[in-house]
Amino acid sequence: MSTIQCEDCGHTVSTRAAACPACGAPVAEARQQAAAGAPLTTTQATSKKLKLQLLFAWAAIIVAVVWILSAPPEIEGPVSIVPALLLTGGFLWLVVTWFRIWWHHK
Ligand SMILES: [Zn+2]
Repeated sequence: MSTIQCEDCGHTVSTRAAACPACGAPVAEARQQAAAGAPLTTTQATSKKLKLQLLFAWAAIIVAVVWILSAPPEIEGPVSIVPALLLTGGFLWLVVTWFRIWWHHK
C-alpha cells in the first residue's frame, strides 16, 4: 500500500482512500478525475458561460430601456409591445442566471 501526502493538510493518506482522514479533502476521486482527463475546471467554465448569459441579459434590458425611452409616446399598439417583451424577457433571464450562478457556487 502506497501513501501520499494530503494536498490540503499534509497528512499521510493511502492512495486508495477516497478522502483524507484528517481533513476530509478528496484524494482518490480527485486523482482519478485528473488521470482520466476529466475537466477539473467545470465550475469555472460554467460560471464563464453564465457570466456571458448575464451580459446578454443586461444587453437585452439596456436595449429595451433605450428603445422605450427613445420611442415617441404617440406610438401605441403592437410596436410598443416588442420592447416591453424584451425588457421582461431580459429581466427574467437575468434573475434565472443569477439563480443558476448562486446554485453553482453553493
Ligand atoms: Zn488532509
